[in-house]
Amino acid sequence: MPQKIALLGSTGSIGTQALDVISRYPDEFKVDLLTGCNNIELLTIQARKFLPDSVVICNKDHYRQLQENLRGTGIKVLAGEKELEQAVASSDAGVVLAAIVGYSGLRPTIAAINAGKKIALANKETLVVAGELITAFTAISGSTIIPVDSEHSAIFQCLSGEDRKSVEKITLTASGGPFLKLSAEELKHVKPGDALKHPNWNMGDKVTVDSASMMNKGLEVIEAKWLFGLDPEQIKVIVHPQSIIHSFVHFKDGSVKAQLGIPDMRVPILYALSHPSRFVSDLPRLEFKDHDNLTFEEPDDNRFRNLPLAFMALKKGGNMPCILNAANEMAVNAFLTGKIGFMQMPDIVEHTLENSRFKSSPDLESLEESDREARIIAQNYIDKLQHLI
Ligand code: MG
Repeated sequence: MPQKIALLGSTGSIGTQALDVISRYPDEFKVDLLTGCNNIELLTIQARKFLPDSVVICNKDHYRQLQENLRGTGIKVLAGEKELEQAVASSDAGVVLAAIVGYSGLRPTIAAINAGKKIALANKETLVVAGELITAFTAISGSTIIPVDSEHSAIFQCLSGEDRKSVEKITLTASGGPFLKLSAEELKHVKPGDALKHPNWNMGDKVTVDSASMMNKGLEVIEAKWLFGLDPEQIKVIVHPQSIIHSFVHFKDGSVKAQLGIPDMRVPILYALSHPSRFVSDLPRLEFKDHDNLTFEEPDDNRFRNLPLAFMALKKGGNMPCILNAANEMAVNAFLTGKIGFMQMPDIVEHTLENSRFKSSPDLESLEESDREARIIAQNYIDKLQHLI
Protein backbone atom coordinates (compact mmCIF):
# COMPACT_ATOMS: atom_id res chain seq x y z
CA MET A 1 0.00 0.00 0.00
CA PRO A 2 1.45 3.40 -0.92
CA GLN A 3 2.00 5.95 1.86
CA LYS A 4 -0.78 8.56 1.74
CA ILE A 5 0.47 12.14 1.82
CA ALA A 6 -1.25 15.44 2.59
CA LEU A 7 0.55 18.35 0.97
CA LEU A 8 -0.13 21.71 2.61
CA GLY A 9 0.92 24.51 0.29
CA SER A 10 1.20 22.46 -2.89
CA THR A 11 1.49 25.41 -5.29
CA GLY A 12 4.55 26.95 -3.63
CA SER A 13 8.20 26.21 -4.28
CA ILE A 14 8.50 23.29 -1.83
CA GLY A 15 5.03 22.01 -2.80
CA THR A 16 5.83 21.80 -6.52
CA GLN A 17 9.22 20.19 -5.85
CA ALA A 18 7.52 17.69 -3.51
CA LEU A 19 5.06 16.72 -6.25
CA ASP A 20 8.01 16.25 -8.59
CA VAL A 21 9.48 13.82 -6.01
CA ILE A 22 6.14 12.07 -5.39
CA SER A 23 5.53 11.58 -9.13
CA ARG A 24 8.76 9.54 -9.32
CA TYR A 25 7.40 6.92 -6.85
CA PRO A 26 3.85 6.01 -7.88
CA ASP A 27 4.06 2.69 -6.01
CA GLU A 28 5.31 4.29 -2.80
CA PHE A 29 3.37 7.55 -2.47
CA LYS A 30 -0.26 8.55 -3.03
CA VAL A 31 -1.42 12.16 -2.68
CA ASP A 32 -4.48 12.30 -0.42
CA LEU A 33 -4.87 16.06 0.08
CA LEU A 34 -3.65 19.14 -1.77
CA THR A 35 -4.04 22.68 -0.44
CA GLY A 36 -3.34 26.11 -1.87
CA CYS A 37 -4.40 29.68 -1.32
CA ASN A 38 -4.66 31.70 -4.54
CA ASN A 39 -3.05 29.90 -7.47
CA ILE A 40 -6.10 27.91 -8.60
CA GLU A 41 -4.76 27.36 -12.11
CA LEU A 42 -1.80 25.37 -10.76
CA LEU A 43 -3.90 23.73 -8.04
CA THR A 44 -6.31 22.53 -10.74
CA ILE A 45 -3.50 21.05 -12.84
CA GLN A 46 -2.02 19.32 -9.77
CA ALA A 47 -5.38 17.94 -8.65
CA ARG A 48 -6.20 16.58 -12.11
CA LYS A 49 -2.78 14.93 -12.30
CA PHE A 50 -2.53 13.44 -8.79
CA LEU A 51 -6.27 12.83 -8.14
CA PRO A 52 -6.28 13.36 -4.36
CA ASP A 53 -9.29 12.57 -2.19
CA SER A 54 -9.73 16.31 -1.39
CA VAL A 55 -8.47 19.73 -2.35
CA VAL A 56 -8.70 22.79 -0.08
CA ILE A 57 -8.39 26.38 -1.24
CA CYS A 58 -7.91 28.62 1.80
CA ASN A 59 -9.09 31.76 -0.01
CA LYS A 60 -12.88 31.27 -0.21
CA ASP A 61 -13.16 33.70 -3.15
CA HIS A 62 -11.82 30.97 -5.43
CA TYR A 63 -14.13 28.20 -4.22
CA ARG A 64 -16.69 28.26 -7.06
CA GLN A 65 -14.08 28.47 -9.78
CA LEU A 66 -12.08 25.58 -8.32
CA GLN A 67 -15.21 23.48 -7.93
CA GLU A 68 -16.02 24.22 -11.57
CA ASN A 69 -12.48 23.32 -12.67
CA LEU A 70 -12.61 19.94 -10.89
CA ARG A 71 -16.14 18.97 -11.88
CA GLY A 72 -16.42 15.32 -12.86
CA THR A 73 -13.17 14.26 -11.15
CA GLY A 74 -14.83 13.03 -7.94
CA ILE A 75 -12.38 15.15 -5.89
CA LYS A 76 -13.89 16.82 -2.82
CA VAL A 77 -13.42 20.60 -2.97
CA LEU A 78 -13.34 22.62 0.26
CA ALA A 79 -12.58 26.26 1.05
CA GLY A 80 -11.52 28.30 4.07
CA GLU A 81 -8.94 28.24 6.85
CA LYS A 82 -11.02 26.24 9.34
CA GLU A 83 -11.95 23.74 6.62
CA LEU A 84 -8.24 23.38 5.86
CA GLU A 85 -7.47 22.47 9.48
CA GLN A 86 -10.37 19.99 9.58
CA ALA A 87 -9.38 18.40 6.28
CA VAL A 88 -5.80 17.87 7.49
CA ALA A 89 -6.92 16.35 10.78
CA SER A 90 -9.47 13.99 9.18
CA SER A 91 -7.37 13.04 6.15
CA ASP A 92 -6.25 9.40 5.70
CA ALA A 93 -2.72 10.63 5.13
CA GLY A 94 -0.08 9.27 7.50
CA VAL A 95 2.40 11.95 6.44
CA VAL A 96 1.69 15.67 6.22
CA LEU A 97 4.15 17.83 4.31
CA ALA A 98 3.80 21.27 5.91
CA ALA A 99 4.97 23.60 3.14
CA ILE A 100 2.80 26.68 3.64
CA VAL A 101 5.11 29.71 3.87
CA GLY A 102 5.10 31.96 6.92
CA TYR A 103 2.85 32.40 9.92
CA SER A 104 -0.21 31.14 8.04
CA GLY A 105 1.29 27.65 8.18
CA LEU A 106 1.01 27.54 11.98
CA ARG A 107 -2.62 26.50 12.57
CA PRO A 108 -2.82 23.79 9.88
CA THR A 109 0.49 22.31 11.08
CA ILE A 110 -0.79 22.22 14.66
CA ALA A 111 -3.96 20.48 13.42
CA ALA A 112 -1.77 17.80 11.80
CA ILE A 113 0.37 17.42 14.93
CA ASN A 114 -2.68 17.11 17.18
CA ALA A 115 -4.04 14.42 14.85
CA GLY A 116 -0.83 12.43 15.50
CA LYS A 117 0.41 12.61 11.91
CA LYS A 118 4.04 12.31 10.93
CA ILE A 119 5.07 15.81 9.87
CA ALA A 120 7.58 16.55 7.12
CA LEU A 121 8.22 20.11 8.23
CA ALA A 122 9.18 22.72 5.64
CA ASN A 123 7.39 25.60 7.38
CA LYS A 124 10.11 26.81 9.76
CA GLU A 125 7.91 29.61 11.10
CA THR A 126 5.82 27.02 12.98
CA LEU A 127 8.73 26.24 15.31
CA VAL A 128 9.97 29.83 15.36
CA VAL A 129 6.62 31.22 16.52
CA ALA A 130 5.48 28.42 18.81
CA GLY A 131 8.41 26.05 19.39
CA GLU A 132 7.62 25.38 23.03
CA LEU A 133 3.93 24.67 22.40
CA ILE A 134 4.68 22.54 19.33
CA THR A 135 7.13 20.45 21.35
CA ALA A 136 4.43 19.89 23.99
CA PHE A 137 1.69 19.10 21.41
CA THR A 138 4.00 16.63 19.67
CA ALA A 139 4.71 14.81 22.93
CA ILE A 140 0.99 14.56 23.74
CA SER A 141 -0.21 13.33 20.33
CA GLY A 142 2.76 11.08 19.55
CA SER A 143 3.37 12.94 16.30
CA THR A 144 6.92 13.05 14.93
CA ILE A 145 8.59 15.88 13.03
CA ILE A 146 11.08 15.19 10.24
CA PRO A 147 12.72 18.42 9.07
CA VAL A 148 12.68 19.31 5.36
CA ASP A 149 14.83 22.43 5.70
CA SER A 150 18.15 21.29 4.18
CA GLU A 151 20.30 22.32 7.17
CA HIS A 152 18.01 20.63 9.68
CA SER A 153 17.70 17.55 7.52
CA ALA A 154 21.51 17.45 7.61
CA ILE A 155 21.62 17.73 11.42
CA PHE A 156 18.83 15.16 11.76
CA GLN A 157 20.76 12.71 9.57
CA CYS A 158 24.03 13.33 11.45
CA LEU A 159 22.25 12.68 14.76
CA SER A 160 20.78 9.40 13.61
CA GLY A 161 22.01 6.65 15.93
CA GLU A 162 23.69 9.17 18.26
CA ASP A 163 22.97 9.94 21.89
CA ARG A 164 21.75 13.57 22.01
CA LYS A 165 23.76 14.05 25.21
CA SER A 166 26.98 13.53 23.29
CA VAL A 167 26.41 16.64 21.16
CA GLU A 168 28.69 19.58 21.94
CA LYS A 169 27.25 21.99 19.39
CA ILE A 170 25.95 22.25 15.83
CA THR A 171 26.97 24.54 12.99
CA LEU A 172 24.36 25.61 10.46
CA THR A 173 25.82 26.58 7.11
CA ALA A 174 24.55 29.72 5.33
CA SER A 175 25.13 30.47 1.66
CA GLY A 176 25.29 34.18 2.47
CA GLY A 177 22.89 34.82 -0.43
CA PRO A 178 23.48 37.04 -3.46
CA PHE A 179 24.77 40.05 -1.48
CA LEU A 180 27.54 38.40 0.52
CA LYS A 181 30.24 40.61 -1.01
CA LEU A 182 28.35 43.93 -1.06
CA SER A 183 29.29 46.82 1.24
CA ALA A 184 26.76 48.33 3.68
CA GLU A 185 26.43 51.31 1.31
CA GLU A 186 25.78 49.07 -1.70
CA LEU A 187 23.24 47.05 0.30
CA LYS A 188 21.14 50.20 0.79
CA HIS A 189 20.44 50.32 -2.93
CA VAL A 190 19.70 46.70 -3.83
CA LYS A 191 16.32 46.03 -5.46
CA PRO A 192 13.83 43.20 -4.82
CA GLY A 193 14.75 41.66 -8.19
CA ASP A 194 18.41 41.44 -7.10
CA ALA A 195 17.46 39.73 -3.83
CA LEU A 196 15.40 37.13 -5.68
CA LYS A 197 18.44 35.86 -7.61
CA HIS A 198 19.70 33.20 -5.21
CA PRO A 199 23.01 31.72 -6.33
CA ASN A 200 22.38 28.10 -5.24
CA TRP A 201 18.89 27.21 -4.06
CA ASN A 202 15.55 27.24 -5.86
CA MET A 203 13.13 28.72 -3.28
CA GLY A 204 10.06 30.96 -3.03
CA ASP A 205 10.27 34.78 -2.79
CA LYS A 206 9.90 35.01 1.01
CA VAL A 207 12.67 32.50 1.77
CA THR A 208 14.92 33.97 -0.93
CA VAL A 209 14.70 37.49 0.53
CA ASP A 210 15.21 36.03 4.03
CA SER A 211 18.24 34.23 2.70
CA ALA A 212 19.70 37.47 1.27
CA SER A 213 19.13 39.29 4.59
CA MET A 214 20.36 36.39 6.81
CA MET A 215 16.96 36.29 8.53
CA ASN A 216 16.49 32.83 7.03
CA LYS A 217 19.48 31.67 9.07
CA GLY A 218 18.16 33.48 12.13
CA LEU A 219 14.83 31.64 11.82
CA GLU A 220 16.72 28.38 11.27
CA VAL A 221 18.73 28.90 14.47
CA ILE A 222 15.44 29.11 16.39
CA GLU A 223 14.03 26.14 14.46
CA ALA A 224 17.15 24.10 15.37
CA LYS A 225 16.77 24.92 19.06
CA TRP A 226 13.34 23.29 19.15
CA LEU A 227 13.98 20.43 16.76
CA PHE A 228 17.08 19.24 18.56
CA GLY A 229 16.60 20.50 22.13
CA LEU A 230 19.71 22.72 22.11
CA ASP A 231 20.72 25.80 24.09
CA PRO A 232 21.28 28.96 22.01
CA GLU A 233 25.00 28.78 22.91
CA GLN A 234 25.22 25.37 21.21
CA ILE A 235 24.10 26.74 17.82
CA LYS A 236 26.68 28.33 15.52
CA VAL A 237 26.43 29.70 11.99
CA ILE A 238 29.13 29.68 9.32
CA VAL A 239 28.91 31.20 5.85
CA HIS A 240 29.64 28.57 3.20
CA PRO A 241 28.81 30.13 -0.18
CA GLN A 242 28.90 26.87 -2.18
CA SER A 243 26.06 25.23 -0.14
CA ILE A 244 27.60 21.77 -0.52
CA ILE A 245 27.97 21.03 3.19
CA HIS A 246 24.45 21.39 4.56
CA SER A 247 25.43 21.52 8.26
CA PHE A 248 27.69 20.00 10.93
CA VAL A 249 27.28 18.28 14.29
CA HIS A 250 30.23 18.55 16.71
CA PHE A 251 30.43 15.81 19.35
CA LYS A 252 31.96 15.93 22.81
CA ASP A 253 34.84 13.64 21.82
CA GLY A 254 36.01 16.07 19.14
CA SER A 255 34.42 14.25 16.19
CA VAL A 256 32.49 16.25 13.63
CA LYS A 257 29.85 14.83 11.29
CA ALA A 258 28.55 16.68 8.24
CA GLN A 259 25.96 15.90 5.60
CA LEU A 260 26.74 16.92 2.04
CA GLY A 261 25.04 17.05 -1.31
CA ILE A 262 24.37 19.32 -4.24
CA PRO A 263 21.87 22.04 -3.29
CA ASP A 264 18.57 20.54 -4.45
CA MET A 265 15.54 20.67 -2.12
CA ARG A 266 14.17 17.49 -3.64
CA VAL A 267 16.81 15.50 -1.72
CA PRO A 268 15.70 16.56 1.81
CA ILE A 269 12.04 16.36 0.69
CA LEU A 270 12.54 12.75 -0.43
CA TYR A 271 14.41 11.93 2.78
CA ALA A 272 11.59 13.32 4.95
CA LEU A 273 8.90 11.46 2.97
CA SER A 274 10.74 8.12 2.83
CA HIS A 275 12.13 8.21 6.39
CA PRO A 276 13.17 5.87 7.99
CA SER A 277 13.92 4.27 4.60
CA ARG A 278 16.04 5.70 1.82
CA PHE A 279 14.70 5.30 -1.70
CA VAL A 280 16.81 4.89 -4.81
CA SER A 281 16.74 8.18 -6.74
CA ASP A 282 18.06 9.53 -10.01
CA LEU A 283 18.51 13.04 -8.58
CA PRO A 284 21.84 14.66 -9.57
CA ARG A 285 24.90 13.33 -7.73
CA LEU A 286 27.65 15.23 -5.94
CA GLU A 287 31.00 14.99 -7.74
CA PHE A 288 33.83 16.15 -5.47
CA LYS A 289 36.11 17.00 -8.39
CA ASP A 290 33.58 19.67 -9.47
CA HIS A 291 33.79 21.33 -6.04
CA ASP A 292 37.46 21.74 -5.22
CA ASN A 293 37.07 25.05 -3.41
CA LEU A 294 34.74 24.79 -0.42
CA THR A 295 35.13 27.95 1.67
CA PHE A 296 33.94 29.12 5.09
CA GLU A 297 33.76 32.52 6.77
CA GLU A 298 32.22 34.10 9.85
CA PRO A 299 28.90 35.89 9.28
CA ASP A 300 29.20 39.70 9.29
CA ASP A 301 26.76 40.86 11.98
CA ASN A 302 27.28 44.53 11.09
CA ARG A 303 26.08 44.28 7.50
CA PHE A 304 23.53 41.52 8.23
CA ARG A 305 21.93 42.50 11.53
CA ASN A 306 19.02 40.05 11.35
CA LEU A 307 21.12 37.14 12.58
CA PRO A 308 22.13 38.76 15.92
CA LEU A 309 18.52 40.00 16.31
CA ALA A 310 17.27 36.41 15.96
CA PHE A 311 19.78 35.16 18.53
CA MET A 312 18.65 37.91 20.88
CA ALA A 313 14.97 36.95 20.43
CA LEU A 314 15.82 33.28 21.00
CA LYS A 315 17.75 34.00 24.20
CA LYS A 316 14.97 36.21 25.55
CA GLY A 317 12.42 33.52 24.63
CA GLY A 318 8.66 33.74 25.31
CA ASN A 319 6.85 35.59 22.55
CA MET A 320 10.00 37.32 21.21
CA PRO A 321 10.63 34.88 18.33
CA CYS A 322 6.94 35.25 17.37
CA ILE A 323 7.38 39.06 17.29
CA LEU A 324 10.62 38.71 15.33
CA ASN A 325 8.83 36.59 12.74
CA ALA A 326 5.81 38.89 12.44
CA ALA A 327 7.98 42.00 12.05
CA ASN A 328 10.12 40.22 9.48
CA GLU A 329 7.11 39.11 7.41
CA MET A 330 5.93 42.73 7.33
CA ALA A 331 9.44 43.98 6.49
CA VAL A 332 9.94 41.47 3.65
CA ASN A 333 6.57 42.38 2.18
CA ALA A 334 7.38 46.10 2.39
CA PHE A 335 10.75 45.48 0.71
CA LEU A 336 9.26 43.33 -2.06
CA THR A 337 6.65 46.01 -2.82
CA GLY A 338 9.30 48.75 -2.99
CA LYS A 339 8.17 50.59 0.16
CA ILE A 340 11.46 50.33 2.05
CA GLY A 341 15.11 49.62 1.36
CA PHE A 342 16.95 46.37 2.05
CA MET A 343 18.86 47.74 5.04
CA GLN A 344 15.65 48.97 6.67
CA MET A 345 14.34 45.43 7.17
CA PRO A 346 16.43 44.82 10.33
CA ASP A 347 15.49 48.32 11.58
CA ILE A 348 11.81 47.31 11.46
CA VAL A 349 12.50 44.02 13.22
CA GLU A 350 14.56 45.70 15.95
CA HIS A 351 12.01 48.49 16.47
CA THR A 352 9.16 45.96 16.75
CA LEU A 353 11.07 43.75 19.21
CA GLU A 354 11.80 46.80 21.38
CA ASN A 355 8.23 48.11 21.36
CA SER A 356 6.12 44.95 21.75
CA ARG A 357 4.88 43.62 25.07
CA PHE A 358 6.97 40.73 26.38
CA LYS A 359 5.22 37.54 27.51
CA SER A 360 7.37 34.83 29.05
CA SER A 361 5.19 31.75 28.51
CA PRO A 362 2.46 32.53 25.98
CA ASP A 363 -0.28 30.08 24.97
CA LEU A 364 -1.52 29.90 21.38
CA GLU A 365 -4.13 32.67 21.74
CA SER A 366 -1.57 34.90 23.37
CA LEU A 367 0.90 34.24 20.53
CA GLU A 368 -1.77 35.16 18.02
CA GLU A 369 -2.31 38.41 19.89
CA SER A 370 1.46 39.05 19.92
CA ASP A 371 1.58 38.39 16.19
CA ARG A 372 -1.24 40.88 15.52
CA GLU A 373 0.26 43.52 17.79
CA ALA A 374 3.74 43.14 16.27
CA ARG A 375 2.34 43.53 12.75
CA ILE A 376 0.64 46.81 13.72
CA ILE A 377 3.82 48.16 15.33
CA ALA A 378 5.86 47.10 12.30
CA GLN A 379 3.35 48.63 9.87
CA ASN A 380 3.33 51.96 11.73
CA TYR A 381 7.10 52.03 11.58
CA ILE A 382 7.09 51.15 7.86
CA ASP A 383 4.69 54.06 7.24
CA LYS A 384 6.99 56.37 9.19
CA LEU A 385 10.06 55.20 7.24
CA GLN A 386 8.21 55.77 3.96
CA HIS A 387 7.57 59.38 4.96
CA LEU A 388 11.30 59.83 5.46
CA ILE A 389 12.18 58.52 1.97
MG1 MG B 1 17.41 26.16 4.93
